[in-house]
Amino acid sequence: MSATILITGSTSGIGLGIAKAFAAKNYNLVINGLGSDEQISNVLKELSSLTSAQVVYEAADMLKPQQIREMIARVEARFGKIDVLVNNAGIQYVAKIEEFPIEKWDAIIAINLSSAFHTIAAAIGKMAENKFGRIINIASAHGLVASPFKSAYVAAKHGVVGLTKTVALEHARDGVTCNAICPGYVLTGLVQAQIPDQAKSRGISEEEVINDVLLAAQPTKQFVTVEQLGAFAVFLASGDAAQINGAILSMDGGWTAQ
Ligand code: NAD
Repeated sequence: MSATILITGSTSGIGLGIAKAFAAKNYNLVINGLGSDEQISNVLKELSSLTSAQVVYEAADMLKPQQIREMIARVEARFGKIDVLVNNAGIQYVAKIEEFPIEKWDAIIAINLSSAFHTIAAAIGKMAENKFGRIINIASAHGLVASPFKSAYVAAKHGVVGLTKTVALEHARDGVTCNAICPGYVLTGLVQAQIPDQAKSRGISEEEVINDVLLAAQPTKQFVTVEQLGAFAVFLASGDAAQINGAILSMDGGWTAQ
């Protein structure tokens, strides 16, 4: 029987990259995230072509605690268990603190932080019962250090780091590990979208944002790739990673070494 992975926010970007990496390992894939019917159907088709295991879509809105908890219950009922849970859904908004819209603050905290609390709280009991579980939280270099104009995002990601450590301690003897990956910049839609806003907030061109702001932080001067993140997540899900627990793992080209 194939193992099962649920990845929140996996209709694009890093989540989709992680889904592809686990498709190659023949996991049942539970995909979640926003998108038009056509986009989601294309994602499901592409993933199905990579695996002989099942690929299903769950539409739960990460803003809605009840939908999140119902999603976990449905997935457990369908597959019997969740082996790997990846909390990846996330949004960004860039503005000075005094101009930061309240509804953006609330949405970022809900999607980037609280949704992980709800998935973990709902899923960890069964993982502990099965004596196996891997929880991988996609935090960020912004879970360790800050940048201006990203108050909600930085607060949420620091929160994910704290949540990861706490969960790791609570079920350490049950075969369940909980770790966070902290990527540096990955050129996904989420990063593309903030380039114009960053340019406006800083009063510089979009090209300058890429070279002097985004990659300025990354000593390798290269973006992290979704394939690298997928491979890292596959390793964390493996038996060889059983003693990696409560770890905050950077994949940021050296950004947070500075
Ligand atoms: P992305 O925009 O491509 O993906 C975000 C995913 O979250 C999408 O599938 C989207 O549909 C989903 N999502 C957004 N709101 C949702 C909601 N209400 N309910 C359900 N799903 C929702 O962005 P990405 O860059 O792939 O980001 C994925 C994660 O990686 C985020 O948590 C982000 O903070 C983190 N991250 C990204 C970078 C980067 O440079 N791209 C760096 C560090 C961390």
